[in-house]
Amino acid sequence: MQRLTRTIDAPKDLGLQGVIEVPEGAPVELDLRLESVMEGVLVTGTARASAKGECVRCLEPLDHEVDADFQEMFSYPDADDRGRPKDDAGDDAEDDEDTLFLEDGLFDLEPVLRDAVVLALPMQPVCQEDCEGLCSECGVRLADEPGHHHDAVDIRWAALQGLAGTIQDGEKDEMSGADAEAGVDEKQEK
Ligand SMILES: [Zn+2]
Ligand SMILES: [Zn+2]
Repeated sequence: MQRLTRTIDAPKDLGLQGVIEVPEGAPVELDLRLESVMEGVLVTGTARASAKGECVRCLEPLDHEVDADFQEMFSYPDADDRGRPKDDAGDDAEDDEDTLFLEDGLFDLEPVLRDAVVLALPMQPVCQEDCEGLCSECGVRLADEPGHHHDAVDIRWAALQGLAGTIQDGEKDEMSGADAEAGVDEKQEK
């Protein structure tokens, strides 16, 4: 058994592209435990890095500390001959795609690291859990302006406000137009 600590430069496209990812070249801290087993080397580890993205609600840039655990078996190239019973030979082609191999005593951790980091990242990153996003009316970030609101939220409400004004005027003066009268009748029935 062997323990290793390494800081590496993040490879390209480490994360969820366009959503949140560890920038290329950013430091990734790896804590690895390598165990020699019958058929190869079992690698258990943790990767720590800082991912950058933007809040899906308010579009503010955000940092997210990734802490990704992984475990992967890297087999000796001839493990099939030594470790496995011969009777499952029919599944070999399928198995080979999932099996990672040691090559000249080295293992390629990149695909493992990539999978672990993607799994550890939030699919819908938010700047804070209760982020209220942006005002649908004017686009202002609601977290920056507590209590932000508009009096006429919707053009349909604006039309009703106009109608209310007409009704008040109509009660004092004369009604103008059948639409206004209909509006008054409806209101009074309710
Ligand atoms: Zn936000
Ligand atoms: Zn607004």
